[in-house]
Amino acid sequence: MSGAGQITGGGGFTPATSIEDAEKWATKNITKKVDYQGVDIKVANEINKQLYTARQENLILDVSKINKIGGAEEFNVGGNSFSIVQGRVAGRAERAWQVSKDTDNFLNAFMVLPKDKALEQLVTHEIGHLVDYKIDVAKMGGYLDKAIEKKAKSIKRKWTKIYNANKDRLPSDYAEIAGSKEGFAEVYSIYRIEPKLLDNVFVSHMDEAVEFASSFGN
Ligand SMILES: [Zn+2]
Repeated sequence: MSGAGQITGGGGFTPATSIEDAEKWATKNITKKVDYQGVDIKVANEINKQLYTARQENLILDVSKINKIGGAEEFNVGGNSFSIVQGRVAGRAERAWQVSKDTDNFLNAFMVLPKDKALEQLVTHEIGHLVDYKIDVAKMGGYLDKAIEKKAKSIKRKWTKIYNANKDRLPSDYAEIAGSKEGFAEVYSIYRIEPKLLDNVFVSHMDEAVEFASSFGN
């Protein structure tokens, strides 16, 4: 893998036991700048693991920085940086799952998964946005390759169609009400964690989108 040369490769992901080590690992293997201060170690490790894997799979662009933001409930993705909510703790994802369960709330796609997958689902959802973003960049001609641009446009068009025609089969209420981009991220998260739970129409599309995203750039 070339590009910014951030990926060492070969070694694979190793979970850190302290936030300092998680930051060191991230700057060695994923990104130039990271701020995990105040973040639960389980969350930092999950983000490191998933960003690293997605880069190894060539599914996302270079990650220039991992930073904290305040206010929002979930991880946020902007451009090629990856932001996480300040003070977020690993247990919060599982608590959110439990509260949803107790109140019969199916807003979030993690409700189709067991509780111990809640954190993984939240991070995978955000990786889904990064995959979608890479396809968006291709669609807008960012790779200066007409064939790539055309294919990206076709995949995006296809997703909008599939999304609108299969709203009742989406894995969460959020996927249904929040629009096709959130729908993509929700479907992507289940596709990566437990594809058996998804309707075939979504699995086929994700197969194609993921194969395409990994086929160009670096
Ligand atoms: Zn989202």
